[in-house]
Amino acid sequence: AADGIDHVFLEFPDINGISRSKQVSPEYFLEHWEDGFTVNLLILAQTPRNDVPEGSGLGEEIGYGDGMLQPVPGTVRPLPWRDDAVRVLCDVTTAAGDPLTAAPRTALQRMIDRIEGRDDAIAFTVGSELEFYLLDAVDGRYEPATSHKHEFMSWATEELSAYTNDLAAWSDTYGVPVHSIMHEHGAGQLEALFEYGDPLTQADRTFDFKRLVKQTAREHDRWATFMAKPFGDRAGSGYHLHVGGRSAGHNVFADGDGLSAFGRRFVGGILEHADALAALGTPTLNAFKRYKPNSFAPSTASWGFDDRTVGVRIPSGTTRVENRIPSADANPYLVIASTLAAGIHGVEAGIEPPEPVDSDPDGERPSLPISPERSLRALANDDVIRSWLGEDVIRVYTASKRAELQAFRDVVTDWERTQYVQNL
Ligand code: GLU
Ligand code: MG
Ligand code: MG
Repeated sequence: AADGIDHVFLEFPDINGISRSKQVSPEYFLEHWEDGFTVNLLILAQTPRNDVPEGSGLGEEIGYGDGMLQPVPGTVRPLPWRDDAVRVLCDVTTAAGDPLTAAPRTALQRMIDRIEGRDDAIAFTVGSELEFYLLDAVDGRYEPATSHKHEFMSWATEELSAYTNDLAAWSDTYGVPVHSIMHEHGAGQLEALFEYGDPLTQADRTFDFKRLVKQTAREHDRWATFMAKPFGDRAGSGYHLHVGGRSAGHNVFADGDGLSAFGRRFVGGILEHADALAALGTPTLNAFKRYKPNSFAPSTASWGFDDRTVGVRIPSGTTRVENRIPSADANPYLVIASTLAAGIHGVEAGIEPPEPVDSDPDGERPSLPISPERSLRALANDDVIRSWLGEDVIRVYTASKRAELQAFRDVVTDWERTQYVQNL
């Protein structure tokens, strides 16, 4: 084409928040963008391992039908590592072009419509904190990309500057407003923070940023991963979601210098729905290994003002709510939708949270689910999360998770043989 663009990538998040795409020619794109582009709907339900699950209700019983990819206006982006292609974000719709309630981006939109229909007209803002590991593949193993031992906020970043400089520059080109990158606790573990935005903007940014992190690593012949716990003896990777909100010019989470009744009940809602939120925020079997006592990852469904072991933290000196339950591998659309659903339900139903851990250090603290089964059962029984996000998206998600669980159960590991062959 005249402007040097030879390919347009049609990109969309699947049920696990994984970026999927296909490329079309610019001519084909311009001819069809108003009607959309056909896509096999089953792609939405695939597991991270690319298995096709049963029971998603996406048409496996009627022959794997097509839906459509509908470009979202304003989402054309350059691909900073090449100059011959752009991408456009797409919504997945039915073949007739109607919203597909099984698509995670549509589920978040549905949640936002619900918020906009409320009388208090609150504009929520959401911030993402994402942790990930940068790794080198060495002889079939993954090694941290830095040799540093004392990692937290260390100058290990100096060793990684070829990567972090490109990541910062390319995020800028892409329009993802990253403002900080630092080294986290694990060797080779980085964290990025970006500006707050409205829920849909922030979900799109988080989705885009994850792709940038991964592709930038590939351009440097490395691997970046949002896998929640790549190493048993190193920190897990969290996806902490910060939520604030304003209505008629005032901060609804604040009352003077403290947390308002609205804010407390928002926390109450998150804790009440914590197990179902864990089903959506802890999407892999591996991710459950991150909920570990005495790590900076949360291990209890409790809250506190400046405590990193709790599920919900109010960072010191602030009046925003930090949901620490999700891990970095979670789908940002579903994490943001479910956190808002749980919090708003807490407000609507007047759910007061228990005492914060700071004022009750020895109090009972319910553990976060230690098993995917418990979290999926909680999700199945959680009428609020199910109905607010929509039955369809929950069904597709659950089908994908169940397929993962079954695949894992079918594997017998070396660890088991080492422990048991001779002793049992
Ligand atoms: N890596 C921790 C987690 O998995 C978070 C550490 C921190 O507080 O930044 O959630
Ligand atoms: Mg961190
Ligand atoms: Mg945090």
